[in-house]
Amino acid sequence: MARESLKKIRERTKEIVRILREHYPGARTSLDYQTVHQLLVATILSQQNTDKGVNAVTPALFQKYPTIAAFANADLQELMVDLRSINYGPTKARAIIESSRQILDEFGGEIPRTIDKLVRLRGVGRKTASVVLGNGYGIAEGVVVDTHVIRVSGRLGLTAHKDPVKIERDLMGTLPQTDWIDWTHMIILHGRAICTARRPDCPECPLQRVCPSAFDFPHLRR
Ligand code: SF4
Repeated sequence: MARESLKKIRERTKEIVRILREHYPGARTSLDYQTVHQLLVATILSQQNTDKGVNAVTPALFQKYPTIAAFANADLQELMVDLRSINYGPTKARAIIESSRQILDEFGGEIPRTIDKLVRLRGVGRKTASVVLGNGYGIAEGVVVDTHVIRVSGRLGLTAHKDPVKIERDLMGTLPQTDWIDWTHMIILHGRAICTARRPDCPECPLQRVCPSAFDFPHLRR
């Protein structure tokens, strides 16, 4: 099959975004938070955990530790207990206390507004930094690549890579920057509802016309 030109991929991507926006209007993160710091904490907790599991813990957590200083001064053992239902809770408790101290000591109490500065915080990688920038500040400096984005972007023929860094680079090259933040939210919803890992529901998919993988799955072949 002839390789699709970048121009064609960009045109198709534009159409994919249009359809996704129609089907998932107002798509946003499913993490609950009130402040950018709470978003940072919730995003750290969400690594290797479901958003639902994180949202079950954070209301009591944010009530007990209402400020950055409260997290910075938290007792490690006690915070570990508070996070007992979270996978890797002890590691995350350390990251939350340490990153809160860094925010106070190195950033004057303000959550940084660039990926370069955010990744200096303990427990914060590029993905967490992009989530915080996009959802907390509306700044699109990168595309958040999670398991759904990896799978669905590949099926849509927007990347041939498996490595998140390379996938992000491909998406940044084809998606307009104004779509970078919403892309992740819409693809996560689509990946959960229709383009699931095991049995993508191509017959019901609004993207089937613009998807090179449509119906190309064992359970859909006759
Ligand atoms: Fe996924 Fe099928 Fe839709 Fe393509 S057509 S995005 S493979 S569900």
